Amino acid sequence: MVTLKARSYENGEPIKVTIAGNRIRSIEPAWPSESVADWPYIAPALFDLQINGHGGVWFSSDSLTRSDVLQALEPHYRYGVTRLCPTLITNSFEGLAAGFAAIREACEYKSTADRMVCGCHLEGPYISAEDGPRGAHPREHVRPADWSEFQKLQQISGNRIKLVTIAPEVEGALDFIRRAVASGVVIAIGHTAATPEQVRGAVEAGARLSTHLGNGAHAMIHRHRNYIFEQLAENRLTASLIVDGHHLPPNLVHTFIKVKSPKRIILTCDAAGWAGCPPGVYESKLGRSEILDNGKLVVAGQRELLAGSAQETDTCVANVIDFAGVSLKDAIDMASKNPARLLGHEVVRLRRGSLADLMLFRIPAEGKRLAIETTIASGELMYGEVVVR
Ligand SMILES: [Zn+2]
Repeated sequence: MVTLKARSYENGEPIKVTIAGNRIRSIEPAWPSESVADWPYIAPALFDLQINGHGGVWFSSDSLTRSDVLQALEPHYRYGVTRLCPTLITNSFEGLAAGFAAIREACEYKSTADRMVCGCHLEGPYISAEDGPRGAHPREHVRPADWSEFQKLQQISGNRIKLVTIAPEVEGALDFIRRAVASGVVIAIGHTAATPEQVRGAVEAGARLSTHLGNGAHAMIHRHRNYIFEQLAENRLTASLIVDGHHLPPNLVHTFIKVKSPKRIILTCDAAGWAGCPPGVYESKLGRSEILDNGKLVVAGQRELLAGSAQETDTCVANVIDFAGVSLKDAIDMASKNPARLLGHEVVRLRRGSLADLMLFRIPAEGKRLAIETTIASGELMYGEVVVR
């Protein structure tokens, strides 16, 4: 049995959390005699719907192996992440099949990997071929929606594909969305040049998420009739936002959260395979990228054009407090409760009986990320230590 003393992320109150097995056994007031100003906070651990890799491993690599997958998953505990969706972007059938097979092998080989991978995210290949909406996805592999191809990939993954990002305007998209939703897969709208009517059609067919709203879009759009406003106005769509500090300007993050309300926002870092690497120039099949000293990941040789994100989910949580003035509770719920609920996984709460996926952390006055001290997954210590108070 493990006992943790910390301040609740909900209201800052000092609490004593006891864990037995993989569950929270009790939560009581801690009644400390001295000040708790130096106690860390405790909160549900983070859950990220979109992780492309880590430390030089890309889940979209054609040559992905079981050990690559395990190597890319493990470091996430130090960011407070216990659950995530490895994300495979637009690629050939063979490339996607190899990736899903490797992820399946890793999950079947190691139970902690299986616990962390609570679903895979297939982002593409059924997306817009246009420059802008397509983002960094390779044009040669963009194609019409293909349900029978998807079924083969789903089988190869061992039924792990839980989220698909699709553009509503591609041929066959609506039929694909209906079938996917009926099979229990969550559909996201993204990398799209859809008309407002096409966005509405996708929502009617069952789409429930906007993938990284505001990114994977044209540089210039119509001021009134556009796919961003249509998705913002639709209450049935939750929006994921990349709040790494580079993908969206702070005021746009603030505006999106005001319009949607925190309960319909999911924070994702959309970390590239270069996340976790030191500043420098790197080469992949997507081209030459550079991590600048400020952590911005750009196309090598300039400083503006982004090549993905090199930040992690804990950075997005810290940023959203700064950018949108939301509470610590709302910020963490956007990166924990909301994604779990969307995918139909258990929502972790600071309550008796809840799954014990927890993190202890501090909020440094200077610095752009949470300082994670301890991460616990299913009651098991995965990072840091348990300090006795
Ligand atoms: Zn994307």
